[in-house]
Amino acid sequence: MAWSATVLTLFPEMFPGPLGLSLAGDALKRGAWSLDAYDIRNHGLGRHRAVDDTPAGGGAGMVIRADVLAAATDAVSPADDARPRLLMSPRGRPLTQARVRELAAGPGAVIVCGRFEGVDERVIEGRRLEEVSIGDYILSGGELAALVTIDACVRLLPGVMGKEVSGEDESFEGGLLEYPHYTRPRDWEGRAIPDVLLSGDHGRIARWRREQAEALTRARRPDLLK
Ligand code: SAH
Repeated sequence: MAWSATVLTLFPEMFPGPLGLSLAGDALKRGAWSLDAYDIRNHGLGRHRAVDDTPAGGGAGMVIRADVLAAATDAVSPADDARPRLLMSPRGRPLTQARVRELAAGPGAVIVCGRFEGVDERVIEGRRLEEVSIGDYILSGGELAALVTIDACVRLLPGVMGKEVSGEDESFEGGLLEYPHYTRPRDWEGRAIPDVLLSGDHGRIARWRREQAEALTRARRPDLLK
């Protein structure tokens, strides 16, 4: 079975969006992975298919109802679904390349996108949703976070990236940010490519890249070195 993502959203038209293009899109068309965007509103209540209500205890905004979201979740992800159920949430554990690797190695993911103020806490517990954040800022909905999460996973699936891009050398993979890249022309606006990269000495090049990666990481992301 190909890696499969099911997204629960109030805006299914947002999918596949950018994931329909480039390498991820080609792989989607080939069936190397699958994407199903499921409308939470299919389980909305009443004539207006309501999915949300005012927050208990008062305050601004609206909250997605537990009963509606649970019914939608159950419709696409039965109790024996082997895929983890993620809830995009600024309160979640920050997404890391290590977690992305785990997700990509598994059967896929069910991804719930919040909107408004968020979702009723009880459905997070009742459907064992793992809260995942893509960073310390607030988006207007979980859809972009879901696209980010899926993109990061899909590019790791076998055969999705061209074979010249291994993914092994990227930022975060070795606990370091990546070294700088250069390509033609050799001189551009008075800036030359570092000599070592043109030396043909693979040992020296590897050492230089390692030193650059370490220096960049120390300067920009000392937290990664701990
Ligand atoms: N009231 C919430 C924010 C709601 S933002 C709070 O203060 O925590 C609306 C929805 O956007 C959220 O339910 C979530 O699904 C999504 N979202 C917003 N920021 C996000 C982030 N940094 N990472 C992942 N999802 C996010």
